[in-house]
Amino acid sequence: MSKTVERLRGMYDVTPDQAWVWQKLETTVTQILQQYGYQEIRFPILEKTALFHSAIGEVTDVVEKEMFTFDSRKGESISMRPEGTASTVRMVLQNGLIFNDPQKLYYNGPMFRHEKPQRGRNRQFSQVGAEVFGFEGPDVDAELLLMTCQMWQQLGLKNVRLELNTLGTPACRENYRQVLIAHFEQHLDVLDEEAKKRLHSNPLRILDSKNPAMRPVIESAPVISDHLNAEAETHFQGLCDILDACGLDYQINRKLVRGLDYYSHNVFEWITDDLGAQGTICAGGRYDRLVEMQGGKPTPATGFAMGLDRLVELILEHQLWQAEATADVYLVRDKAVPVPAVLALTEQLRQAIPGLRMTVSMGQASFKSQFKKADKSGAEFAIIIGLEEHEQQMFSVKALHDRNMAQQQLSYPALVSFLQQHLT
Ligand code: ATP
Ligand code: MG
Repeated sequence: MSKTVERLRGMYDVTPDQAWVWQKLETTVTQILQQYGYQEIRFPILEKTALFHSAIGEVTDVVEKEMFTFDSRKGESISMRPEGTASTVRMVLQNGLIFNDPQKLYYNGPMFRHEKPQRGRNRQFSQVGAEVFGFEGPDVDAELLLMTCQMWQQLGLKNVRLELNTLGTPACRENYRQVLIAHFEQHLDVLDEEAKKRLHSNPLRILDSKNPAMRPVIESAPVISDHLNAEAETHFQGLCDILDACGLDYQINRKLVRGLDYYSHNVFEWITDDLGAQGTICAGGRYDRLVEMQGGKPTPATGFAMGLDRLVELILEHQLWQAEATADVYLVRDKAVPVPAVLALTEQLRQAIPGLRMTVSMGQASFKSQFKKADKSGAEFAIIIGLEEHEQQMFSVKALHDRNMAQQQLSYPALVSFLQQHLT
């Protein structure tokens, strides 16, 4: 016997006992996005590596060490998308979508990062992202946060908290950068290699370090709020005022910076404590400079990306949802009844009742084993076709949950109205 080839490290399979959670999660979240006026976009999984270098930034975890990059047959470097914002910006520019036209867009799909696999950190993972172009905010930022909060409510998540910060305008960021470099330069002995490498190229990233040894020097670092100009203050205060008025709770975390280079003004994370270390389930903020940096007209932009893997884990681990039945109706038949007669009936029933989920017992199973499967499917009713029913053109219907409902024999039209009446 040959050995089964196993899947790649950091990748996973979604088995049927989990797929229903993915389906329901994706449906719930994308429906809410549509309710808020967001339209779906889809873009390729493969892009030119240059796109991510220029849009995400050279000195970032993602670009420096997490991308799956290889050469095309023509020798051009291409990469599997590690996130969606770079591609969204490329796409709206290439398709002229934001030419004098604000856009509220969303995407849903797999992303790829070559990270050390651990709980909540996979090499292929799924994100739903929202990206808004053409609004300066903070109204649209506030609506974005209210919408995500609505998502947690509809998904039944508790214990999620919102952390907010502002990175200010490019001008205050530059000022803050210098102050940060000066601070870290006084503590070179405690900086790890990565921090030293980033000290001059991207010192804000040091604040994002997860190295516990550096926690004290990060704690004592100057905070951006002391270096905001009036424009940055007004924008951030404007957002906080709307959230306060709408009753959305948040915590200001002055050390919150986003891993990617293109953010400005407000940045945020939704965090749960129910998932251990990888507790951020949604993160985003404003990236007003990115469109221009990518060759477009200056266009304000804001958005977020939500990690679906972590949400699925949360829902399954805390049993937030009950598995639903996989069928409405299970058709049990005597093996002596001719197959074409059974299939003709089920095809007719499917047309008569759109959306009907009906499993037909295949093969030569006994009545007993067919009923066992019917119970397991969670179906509301079994339709039984024995030889007698077949000869009389009748159908027996047995309720599988409601013990008070007597088994009944129905003609075809009566069966259709019975199912229409009893199945929602
Ligand atoms: P972290 O600091 O946890 O590495 P990040 O800053 O790299 O996060 P983003 O690029 O902002 O994450 O991605 C947004 C969301 O996507 C994260 O909050 C998380 O929920 C999810 N996510 C990111 N990387 C992974 C991964 N490797 N596996 C699973 N989910 C991920
Ligand atoms: Mg990361």
